[in-house]
Amino acid sequence: MQKIFLHNTLTKKKEEFKPIKEGEVGIYSCGPTVYNFVHIGNLRSYIFADTLHRVLAYNGYKVKHVMNITDVDDKTIRDSQAAGISLKDFTDKYTASFFEDLEKININKDEYIFPRATENIQGMVALIKKLLDKGFAYKAEDGSIYFAISKFKDYGKLSGVDFERDSKSRVDNDEYAKEEAHDFALWKAWDEKDGDVFWETELGKGRPGWHIECSVMSSANLGETFDIHTGGIDLIFPHHENEIAQSEAANDKKFVNYWLHNEMLMVDSQKMSKSLNNVYTLQDIINKGFNPMAFRYLCLQTHYKQKQNFTWEALKFAANTIESLVDILVIAKDQSKGKPKGSILKDYQEKFLEKINEDLNLSGALSIIFELLETESAGLISIPDMLETIFDFDKVLGLQIKEFVEKKSMVPEEAKKDAEERKRAKETNNYSKSDELRTKIQKQGVKIIDVQNNNYILSSSTAVFYNPNNDARK
Ligand SMILES: [Zn+2]
Repeated sequence: MQKIFLHNTLTKKKEEFKPIKEGEVGIYSCGPTVYNFVHIGNLRSYIFADTLHRVLAYNGYKVKHVMNITDVDDKTIRDSQAAGISLKDFTDKYTASFFEDLEKININKDEYIFPRATENIQGMVALIKKLLDKGFAYKAEDGSIYFAISKFKDYGKLSGVDFERDSKSRVDNDEYAKEEAHDFALWKAWDEKDGDVFWETELGKGRPGWHIECSVMSSANLGETFDIHTGGIDLIFPHHENEIAQSEAANDKKFVNYWLHNEMLMVDSQKMSKSLNNVYTLQDIINKGFNPMAFRYLCLQTHYKQKQNFTWEALKFAANTIESLVDILVIAKDQSKGKPKGSILKDYQEKFLEKINEDLNLSGALSIIFELLETESAGLISIPDMLETIFDFDKVLGLQIKEFVEKKSMVPEEAKKDAEERKRAKETNNYSKSDELRTKIQKQGVKIIDVQNNNYILSSSTAVFYNPNNDARK
């Protein structure tokens, strides 16, 4: 197996990845809180996690990937009440839409485990009891249970947060700022704000805090110590810091070996926010005439540890780039008709692996595809080998290149007949007829490219990655 290097937030270093179990890897990625449609910043995070998954699988690892669904927390309760529907109906709706989005951006749901918080309450109760028994947690006057950060000597090791350790202040919100590092709620005693959302447990009537959910859902599926945990950098504090505190205090074991965090996605160089009206969803992208794969391609172009600036212009550019790549491959595929199937070019695969294994250098990996196109046009490699190699790389990129090439190679029967007739017209030097037929073919949304001996290549001329005519708002 090749060496894989990953940047570990815990050590702040790029490290060689060493799995706990030879040939296997366990990954936990913080998934959505299902109180709304996921936005493109969330999607960047899931595409990053999926790319990591694919890189490891391409290297031969058996990947076990867990992504949680947070279906009970402050926000889901607040917004389901505002909507006047039950927590379950409310979160089911957004969970379903999340799964649809995953499919659209080519994240294969079947390769993941998706535990739901509400289905893991017993595990949370058990972990909190353990923390109470060991003196890391205490019950406050209101019946809520808090984690005492001063008892856990490693608190702050992930985020570097520094604070007054003997602080007795507490916070019962799931989210808070770094300056407000306080004892945080593991279990929130029921109060009327929670309405009908509660569980009657040994800890009393109430519900779990957000952080304990991830400690439980990860270890329930991957063990008390597992390989990789991912999430956006906004989750480092307090969420991931608290996950470490809960799990390591309870189990006396290292929780996670490699912490990987992706940077934020900005829109027009600004943070996404409701007030700026720039919180986009995948549906917004589709409504403007883009194929979701254009967005995936855009995400691959920026390294996950760099801020990504989303603009509509950048998305158009990404769409055009992948469109022309597919167009070139459609022609290549046509020219390789009748030739034996190619094989993967090992030296290029080697170069490709070097890029992706260097902390997921995907833009570097994409450049190897363009290098392949150049080398082929210089006649140094065969078309079938080039195609086979690119289709193989796409296992990591997840851009569905082969499917798009096939789709664009398909043209209506009538256009095929017209093209044959045009060939005969050209053979008899009937140029006016040939021109007439060319126009007719083009009108059918088909591009005809002439090659030697009056031969030709047909392909769909309809853009599939960006087509302003598909703008749903028009
Ligand atoms: Zn989480």
